[in-house]
Amino acid sequence: GSVFAHLVQAPEDPILGVTVAYNKDPSPIKLNLGVGAYRTEEGKPLVLNVVRKAEQQLINDKSRIKEYLPIAGLVEFNKLSAKLILGADSPAIRENRITTVECLSGTGSLRVGGEFLAKHYHQKTIYITQPTWGNHPKIFTLAGLTVKTYRYYDPSTRGLNFQGLMEDLGAAPPGAIVLLHACAHNPTGVDPTIQQWEQIRQLMRSKGLMPFFDSAYQGFASGSLDTDAKPIRMFVADGGECLVAQSYAKNMGLYGERVGALSIVCKSADVAGKVESQLKLVIRPMYSSPPIHGASIVAVILRDRNLFNEWTLELKAMADRIISMRKQLFEALRSRGTPGDWSHIIKQIGMFTFTGLNPAQVSFMTKEYHIYMTSDGRISMAGLSSKTVPHLADAIHAVVT
Ligand code: PLP
Repeated sequence: GSVFAHLVQAPEDPILGVTVAYNKDPSPIKLNLGVGAYRTEEGKPLVLNVVRKAEQQLINDKSRIKEYLPIAGLVEFNKLSAKLILGADSPAIRENRITTVECLSGTGSLRVGGEFLAKHYHQKTIYITQPTWGNHPKIFTLAGLTVKTYRYYDPSTRGLNFQGLMEDLGAAPPGAIVLLHACAHNPTGVDPTIQQWEQIRQLMRSKGLMPFFDSAYQGFASGSLDTDAKPIRMFVADGGECLVAQSYAKNMGLYGERVGALSIVCKSADVAGKVESQLKLVIRPMYSSPPIHGASIVAVILRDRNLFNEWTLELKAMADRIISMRKQLFEALRSRGTPGDWSHIIKQIGMFTFTGLNPAQVSFMTKEYHIYMTSDGRISMAGLSSKTVPHLADAIHAVVT
């Protein structure tokens, strides 16, 4: 018999498992709103034009080689990524007190940052939002941190529970790490206002709480890279320290290239240098060094003014299509006279709508309408199109009446 015969079958990942179930469904009207990946009006994955151009440029360059990157990744990519998230005029960049390492997309950046903190930061507790992206608790637990939650979402308003958030962060032990979704909160689509961010910043700084930003959707929420980075820049402007995990999966459509960055903003260049040396000790035994291709694509686009501008237009078009899907779904429910207040569909931000549908309703919609989503009622607006909105609206209408 096999030495592994005692293993039990593990459950599918709660998010990726939705796609597995979808793929098995033979129905021609099936609709996958589970996974957070952009789709065109035709329901197809999108490779940005600007990415195709950058790849062509890389192919044409016969001097390019496939040597290992250094442990911290592509140097130019790291510099440009810091500039993209913090802004070209950031004091942290000017004063050279930031270290940035290329990591395996957003997930890898969170994991490396988590392990670094578990090794070198005095507080081992990280507070994450309730609810949050399903991978967060697992990433940080395996990184060696203790995971606790803070209140975030208010089901009764389908908006932010700001008071609960402030109470919970106010009661956190001094120095605790706080994971903050930089924009387009996953799964709720609910973000603090700029005024609320300022109050969160003041509270966190007064208690010495350590901000760890997860920026998986820069540009995807508002359509503007700068607007979506604003909360992070507020925390950097006050001179304090923070961590930022960046992903290029959504905003450049580089999902499978696994390209992202971890930045740690420090108080001095000297400390930043030491932090980088220790980050390399975390990375080397984990995967040795990151891949070269995705980071090269990003660097080509970010370094060239024309390509950069073209990218911002394509990014805005994706964000606008998602916003238009919100309006169309809201209108479709209104025209059906579907009971309930559905205004959260147009108020929420980014890729997802947290519909408020419960697991039983979700399972009814999957069974009767072949519509797939996570059991918490989260739907990916990027998976919708003008053609499929009526089908989704019919299903929601049927399940709530
Ligand atoms: N953080 C959040 C909140 C996300 O929603 C995602 C992706 O869905 C990620 C991080 C990381 O994604 P990736 O590792 O593909 O960059």
